[in-house]
Amino acid sequence: MVGKALKQSDKLIFGLIQKETKRQEDGLEMIPSENHSSRAVREALGSVFTDKYSEGYPRKRYYGGNEFVDEAETLAIERAKKLFGVEHVNVQPYSGSPANQSVYFALLNPGDTVMGQSLTAGGHLTHGWKVNFSGKIYNSVLYNVKPDGYLDIGEVRKLALEHRPKLIWVGATAYPREFPFEEFGKIADEAGAYLAADISHIAGLVAGGAHKSPVPFVHIVTTTTHKTLRGPRGAMVMVTRKGIEKDPELPSKIDKAVFPGLQGGPHDHQTAAIAVALGEALQPQFKKYARQIVENSKALAGSLMQNGIKLVSNGSENHLLLIDLTSFGKGKGLYGQCGLEKAGITVNKNTIPFDPSSPFYPSGIRLGTPALTTRGMREKEMKRIGKIIAETLKRCCAYEFPEEKERREAAIAQAKEKIENDRELVKLRGEVLKLCRKFPLHSK
Ligand SMILES: *Cc1c(COP(=O)(O)O)cnc(C)c1O
Repeated sequence: MVGKALKQSDKLIFGLIQKETKRQEDGLEMIPSENHSSRAVREALGSVFTDKYSEGYPRKRYYGGNEFVDEAETLAIERAKKLFGVEHVNVQPYSGSPANQSVYFALLNPGDTVMGQSLTAGGHLTHGWKVNFSGKIYNSVLYNVKPDGYLDIGEVRKLALEHRPKLIWVGATAYPREFPFEEFGKIADEAGAYLAADISHIAGLVAGGAHKSPVPFVHIVTTTTHKTLRGPRGAMVMVTRKGIEKDPELPSKIDKAVFPGLQGGPHDHQTAAIAVALGEALQPQFKKYARQIVENSKALAGSLMQNGIKLVSNGSENHLLLIDLTSFGKGKGLYGQCGLEKAGITVNKNTIPFDPSSPFYPSGIRLGTPALTTRGMREKEMKRIGKIIAETLKRCCAYEFPEEKERREAAIAQAKEKIENDRELVKLRGEVLKLCRKFPLHSK
């Protein structure tokens, strides 16, 4: 996978890249914020653009020698505009969190009120969570989901009219349903707030037409580029027509917030790779890919539920599923994650709405289909994988997880040992490996 130069100059890192390649190849990556980028994306990312400094924006740089960087960044911007149908794009944020930070920096003063989906209801840290800058510097008001797992739009409206936030976020990291962007748009207008959609997780679905677009209803769209969009790690901030109508200065406010407000030199190699990924997303095949992600997610949801596993909101209509393990007891997410890892399936433990346990020992598992769909897997494989997951969870989540702290450590160690020595899981691991070999990844 990697060239000769690295093998010769740094055997340790070369070896680790080889091991990571094999780990990805031989296992099912089901963390819904992850994907497998194309070799073309990774070639651009590993290019000589990494050597360049180019503070500023195309044709307005503080350094010389940027004629090709300018072209690459302009291509990325133009492709993003076309793909998402927006008026203005900034492709320089280093990642999703800094992109969101730039929105605060552009629009709010310290102490101003912001509203976002609570982390415990699936929202992101940067939408006002207390330990994050967004909850420390700003006055954050958080909205929730209902016991059925769906957003409570009535509560959103009530809170927005009561607290009059300057900025409202819509978007999440663990929400298995479509976002009601139109309703959020009406509420933001009524409250006089800016509305930003953070589509980090679903950008690929929006780009491929498999999730409705927020663009007609919001002022700003932020997204990472490395999740369903299948690009390099990175992010973008986009301004819509509605945004410019509300505030003609919005594009320049965002640009100034990113640079010089928060960042120095842009990562030009990342920009070039984002341009490549956007080029891929503009191809007709990408629409098929996006639809298949959702079909796979629905098929997996069906299979899991048929095999007795409970899902938050009883299903999925995007790329992501949230397993509710409370029928096995409280705080069983860790055991589920460990067991699945043993079976060759990578997921993450996650809180579920109204989790009876704690964020470090949550009662859920978050998983998704973007990476498996990139490998070419379809409904048939999802059905099988759903069975494997259900079997694994039933074996591992039966172990005791004591609520008393004193007994907990020993119980966890014991459960981990049992999982480690479970012959049945070794068999399932074999099955997962067979499936992976049938859908090769990097060796294609
Ligand atoms: C992933 C994500 C982010 C942050 O992205 P990083 O690149 O990890 O900083 C922000 N918002 C949402 C909704 C996300 O899913």
